[in-house]
Amino acid sequence: MMRISLECRECKKHYEPTFKYICEDCFGPLDVKYDFPKVNKDTFSNREHTYWRYFELLPILEKSNIISIDAGMTPLVRAEKLGKELGLNKLYIKNDSVNPTFSFKDRPAGIAVSKSKEFGLSAVGCASTGNLASATAAHAAKGGFPCHIFAPSDIEMPKIAQALSYGANFIAVDGTYDDANRIAAQIGDSKGIGIVNINMRSYYVEGSKTLAYEVAEQLDWQVPDQLVVPVGSGAMLNAICKGFEELQNISLLNDVSNMHMVAAQPTGCAPIVTAFKKKSYEVIPVEQPDTIAKSLAIGDPGDGRYVLKRLKQYNGFAEESNNKEILDAILLLAKTEGIFTEPAGGVSVAVLKKLVDEGKIDKNDTTVCYVTGNGLKATESLMEVLPKPQVMQADVAKISAVVK
Ligand SMILES: *Cc1c(COP(=O)(O)O)cnc(C)c1O
Ligand SMILES: [Zn+2]
Repeated sequence: MMRISLECRECKKHYEPTFKYICEDCFGPLDVKYDFPKVNKDTFSNREHTYWRYFELLPILEKSNIISIDAGMTPLVRAEKLGKELGLNKLYIKNDSVNPTFSFKDRPAGIAVSKSKEFGLSAVGCASTGNLASATAAHAAKGGFPCHIFAPSDIEMPKIAQALSYGANFIAVDGTYDDANRIAAQIGDSKGIGIVNINMRSYYVEGSKTLAYEVAEQLDWQVPDQLVVPVGSGAMLNAICKGFEELQNISLLNDVSNMHMVAAQPTGCAPIVTAFKKKSYEVIPVEQPDTIAKSLAIGDPGDGRYVLKRLKQYNGFAEESNNKEILDAILLLAKTEGIFTEPAGGVSVAVLKKLVDEGKIDKNDTTVCYVTGNGLKATESLMEVLPKPQVMQADVAKISAVVK
């Protein structure tokens, strides 16, 4: 018997685990369900320091299909200095900015590209707000697949340079992410390409749930009280919840129902926050996203409705932060913890600060703030607020005068 199957998130109809992502009956998204083997804490403790340590809990059936660039098992940093600034006694930063392609997207991309190999597909690709491009392209390079990237033309230059370097075919779409996504969906289906975040989405999201597994293991199998997650499509937040629930199902964690999820979005593209504040389950798309947090600039989030359900299930909040708050938060994180994040990570820290200030997070709560991308990928907006170093003559006396 196969150890995985697909289940419709809406009507619960079951399917064989094939190259398929939408329910035939109700068009709901399909999720991977497992027949988990017996595992315990020691099963994983001595394994490789990548997310592949959780192989039995992932949807790849044959180890020979794994395409790995050694992503995952990133540091869970005890952030005492930042905690002190914010007024939190037990703050942790999950620093996913240090993955091989410098964002958390190595998790979903690695699983989806490996699964594409398992399905025998001949090419892979993605629709990207920037980081998924490189994560998919790097795994494609390692696995020897052609890779087609569809991204809005205005994403950050370093992200384009990085994806091109891995050998991807980069299509810069003159439009929004939603435009790129629509085109990728049609081309993927018509040409049989494994578009990791669209027709491979059921498997793709399974990579992101390792953000829950690792945090749980790094906290010595304790359930955190608060989880702050930056949200674009909402796939990651939903997957983190699924990850914690699975650990409870296999008795690696106690009751997870008391954890709280926080969805963090940037002002200018915060359709989920808007719906949350209106107590609505209908996410109204943002036509023209406008934010420096380009990785989160998804106007029509695919998993938006499910994020709202998760916030209700876990007594959570959705909050937004504007460009200035994002830049301040990037610098605060850098100056207290020595972690340099791109604006998406700034959104998490800024929203965390807001919720602590508003008394919505208790100072003794074990709080995990997800920092999902690296600062080197998006320096442009930051350069505008940083002091420009003055060029000086190479003269000891003159330079020593400015070293006080
Ligand atoms: C894509 C991305 C996100 C958002 O993930 P979703 O699954 O789309 O919600 C957050 N942070 C960074 C750095 C990203 O690249
Ligand atoms: Zn269905």
